[in-house]
Amino acid sequence: MTSAAPELDGYRHLYSGKVRDLYAPVGADGQPLEDRLLLVASDRLSAFDHVLRTPIPDKGRVLTQLSLWWFEQLEDLVPHHVLASDGPEIPASVAGRAVLVRRLEMVPVECVARAYLTGGGLREYVETGTVSGVRLPEGLVDGDRLPEPVFTPSSKAPAGQHDEPIDEAQVDALVGEPMRRLLSSLTTRILARGNEIATERGVIIADTKVEFGLAPGSDPADPQVVLADEVLTPDSSRFWPVEGWEPGHTQPSYDKEFVREWLLDPATGWDRHSGEAPPPMPEAIALRTRAKYVEAYERLTGRTFS
Ligand code: ATP
Ligand code: MG
Repeated sequence: MTSAAPELDGYRHLYSGKVRDLYAPVGADGQPLEDRLLLVASDRLSAFDHVLRTPIPDKGRVLTQLSLWWFEQLEDLVPHHVLASDGPEIPASVAGRAVLVRRLEMVPVECVARAYLTGGGLREYVETGTVSGVRLPEGLVDGDRLPEPVFTPSSKAPAGQHDEPIDEAQVDALVGEPMRRLLSSLTTRILARGNEIATERGVIIADTKVEFGLAPGSDPADPQVVLADEVLTPDSSRFWPVEGWEPGHTQPSYDKEFVREWLLDPATGWDRHSGEAPPPMPEAIALRTRAKYVEAYERLTGRTFS
C-alpha cells in the first residue's frame, strides 16, 4: 500500500504532492532553511486525478534518475534547480530518489507543449481546427506530428482538481506578456530538443509538462527562470516507442496510458466519474508498469537501471 512521507533526520516535512514529498533542511539553530528543498519522489502513481493505492516498485528512483539525466542534457538551454543528488545531504533511506534543490518561487502556470496531436489537443483540434489558439493544417489525425511544437499552457489546479487549459490572455494575467513569451519559448524548445535526443533512441515525446520557478531575489525586470520539478519523464510526458508509431489511432505508450487502460476496462468495475477511489492494482499490472518505466529510462539514457 502507498505509504506516507517518511520522517527524515535533519529535515522537516513541508508538503506532499501527488507523487513527491517536500522537506526543508533544518539548520544548526533548529529552524528550517528557506532557500533549499529536498524533493523525494515516491513510488506513488496518479491517474485520473487519483493517487492509486498500489505503489509502482522503483518508480521514484526511475523518475529521479531520468530527470537528472535530462537536466544535464538541457543545461545549455535552461538552468535547473538541482544542487545535489548524492553525498552527505541526501539521507540514505531515500538515496536515488531524492534531490536537494534551490527553493524557487514557482511560476503559477503548468507549461505544456505538444509536438504530436493526441489527447486534449486532438479534442480541441477536432472541434475548432486549432490547438491553444494556434491554427493547424487540415486533416490531421490522432498521433500526427505537428509542424512545430505548440505551447498549450494550463492552470495549476488545487489538489484533487483537474488542470484546465488557459489561453494567452489568461497566462498574461497571471505572469505578464514578456514572461508568457519566455515560458512558451523555453517549453517548446525543451520539447524539441528532447525529441531530437529521444527519437534517435527510439522514443517519441508526444507532449510534456514542465514547471519553472524564479530564483529568489532575481531582478523582477530580468527574472532568472529556472527549470524545476521533474523533466521529460513518463509521468510528465507521453512517451511512444518509435517503432509502434502509426497515426490514425491511439499510440502504444510508455506512460500511464497503460494503467489508464486497466482502470477503464469494465472488468475493473471502477467508474471514473463516481468520485470513488480506484481499486487496488493487481500485482501483475504494477510489475508491468514498473517494467515500462525502466524500459523508457534505459532506452533514453542508454544506461542499465540497477
Ligand atoms: P501538486 O503539488 O499540485 O500536488 P503534483 O502532484 O504534480 O502537484 P508533485 O510532483 O507530487 O506535485 O510535487 C512536487 C511539488 O514541488 C510541486 O508542487 C512543484 O510545484 C513543487 N516544486 C518542484 N520543484 C520546486 C522548487 N525548486 N522550488 C519550489 N517548489 C518546487
Ligand atoms: Mg508534479
